[in-house]
Amino acid sequence: MKPDVPAHARPADADMRRGVRPVICYPVEGLPAVDLAPLLAARAGWERVAEVLVPPRDARCFAVPAGHFFRISSVGGPQVGDLNLWAAGDLRERFYSGKTRALHGTHLSAGDRMWSSFPYLRPMAVITEDTLDWYGFDDFGGAVHDVIGTRCDPYTHALLSDGGQYHHCCHSNLTRALADWTGLSLHEAEGHVHDVLNVFMCTGFTRDTGQYFMKASPVRPGDFIEFFAEIDLLGGLSACPGGDCSAEHSSDVSLCHPLLVEVFRPLAPPAGWLAPRVSGYDRSHGR
Ligand SMILES: [Zn+2]
Repeated sequence: MKPDVPAHARPADADMRRGVRPVICYPVEGLPAVDLAPLLAARAGWERVAEVLVPPRDARCFAVPAGHFFRISSVGGPQVGDLNLWAAGDLRERFYSGKTRALHGTHLSAGDRMWSSFPYLRPMAVITEDTLDWYGFDDFGGAVHDVIGTRCDPYTHALLSDGGQYHHCCHSNLTRALADWTGLSLHEAEGHVHDVLNVFMCTGFTRDTGQYFMKASPVRPGDFIEFFAEIDLLGGLSACPGGDCSAEHSSDVSLCHPLLVEVFRPLAPPAGWLAPRVSGYDRSHGR
């Protein structure tokens, strides 16, 4: 823990240095703009082609072909979910939460993309609708659907609970689900589980200490977040043991509910849509 009093005195020009205005690291004006209108229009007459109910404190995988949509809905009661995405057929290409955060900010909503890992770095999905977009940032600095947390996991739990063993953390749930879907062993599958999009979770950093916080999710049954798949996707979704994350996770104390995943096939691809190519960087790294 950081000491309450810094070890070093403020220099004479401290106020001037701290007063320098921030600049946005990655101005996203240079990115190809997401035009939601043709994506939303493509939903007219779509057909629901798959449905997966993710049980509480467990996870399931699901496939979404490129050009299809998928929707994650709250059913039964407030519940947060941890979402992993892989390129179908190549688990090395997977959702890159950190770079997505650097590009789009700490929390995602309609119009934001979910980017894949290096060396691919292309949009895997676009968020097309978010019924919690009204929430914005609350007075605590909290917002919904974050890419700042990682996923609840049994290792951090053991670290913070003197060796406690809990097996239904999102990390382990996703590991079992991916092993079941792919036929990989648990240990092989575990290496492909990655930092998530925390669907419906309300989180932020405390203003005074900068610590990661969670609070009761504002999600209610009927709320959903919807995605358009830019490439063939394999998804994994865990219904977090934290339930609505109002109190604790990594235990069986919280009230938990299922989450519904639905996959939709549009009548025709969205107007003007082209599947994204992988990064154009030549990978010579200066040699
Ligand atoms: Zn979790």
